[in-house]
Amino acid sequence: MTDQQTAPVEQQRPVAVPSPKPHDPQRRQRGPQQQRQPQGIDLSVVIPLYNEEASLRELHQQLRQALGRMNMRYEILFIDDGSTDRSFNVLRDLKRNDRHMHVVRFRRNYGKSAALAVGFDKAQGPIIITMDADLQDDPAEIPALRRKLEEGYDLVSGWKRVRHDPLSKTIPSRFFNAVVRRLSGIPIHDFNCGLKAYRRDVVKHLRVYGELHRFLPVLAHWEGFRVTEHPVQHRPRKYGKTKFGLTRFWKGFLDLLTVLFTTRYLRRPLHLFGFWGLVTAFVGSVIVVWLAFEKIFFGASLSNRPLFLGGVLLLIVGIQFVSIGLIGEMISRSQAASDEYQIRDFLK
Ligand code: UDP
Ligand code: MG
Repeated sequence: MTDQQTAPVEQQRPVAVPSPKPHDPQRRQRGPQQQRQPQGIDLSVVIPLYNEEASLRELHQQLRQALGRMNMRYEILFIDDGSTDRSFNVLRDLKRNDRHMHVVRFRRNYGKSAALAVGFDKAQGPIIITMDADLQDDPAEIPALRRKLEEGYDLVSGWKRVRHDPLSKTIPSRFFNAVVRRLSGIPIHDFNCGLKAYRRDVVKHLRVYGELHRFLPVLAHWEGFRVTEHPVQHRPRKYGKTKFGLTRFWKGFLDLLTVLFTTRYLRRPLHLFGFWGLVTAFVGSVIVVWLAFEKIFFGASLSNRPLFLGGVLLLIVGIQFVSIGLIGEMISRSQAASDEYQIRDFLK
């Protein structure tokens, strides 16, 4: 597909596409190394990496081949997330012969989400591709992702249909994806694929922190962006080892709670807490009333009935939930919300 074909999609979004950053005066003040190319950029590739020295040359080579064929003005942003191996030196060497390449180096390891957040901030293109640095994602997939984006989506998430990872990772991951799919209501199979394509609006609006990179499609969906998936090739890890152990799963579920709460219920906490509070309090009341009935009319003894304790407990927890929901509503109401609404177009 040619560049001209992308134009109509962009034109429908006059307000949402910010002016390109090369004109930003603050950026011009930076040192010569960080200075941007004067001409526009059509595509930015953002690659977070942590101790991937062995993969980088091969990755760079594959990227150049894939991007060269696309006939677009591109940039490749490597975000070195505080590597302790020679990753940065390798990148510095590669950058000497590649004017498309930019390298950000963190002072310490902040995590993949932080690296992506900085990459999103620095990216200049109207289309942003993210991918892992370990050669598990194939740069040859980039054109297909871009085409899918042009069908009218804001985020296209890679779907590793055939995964080349150990079972200890793929089985929990299936379960994780099923739960996220169910709770978020987004019908995609693979939330945490490193290979994704975004429209610029999406990356400039998402707040990626902690370990929320696993939920970018969820965050985008709940902000009103159009999210879809596209099957991609996945390869076994060739060098180095995975940076995320099994702790990723319980952390992932806690993060899911955060995401659901901050996207769905931030502005209406009573709908979450109030609902469960009322359900719990109702069940507790039924139990307590029933036992009181037995006691009054049949003289039953309550001291040896654990159910009685259970009923009282449910009642108290229910009231607590409703109260928490009300307090949440009060906090939510005292905060100005106007900047939280996403405006796609503004026709005047
Ligand atoms: N990564 C990172 N910071 C970290 C951990 C990982 O930038 O603290 C990068 C890593 O170098 C790789 C990508 O995130 O490019 C995905 O990591 P990994 O391949 O270890 O994850 P997996 O494929 O096992 O899910
Ligand atoms: Mg990997």
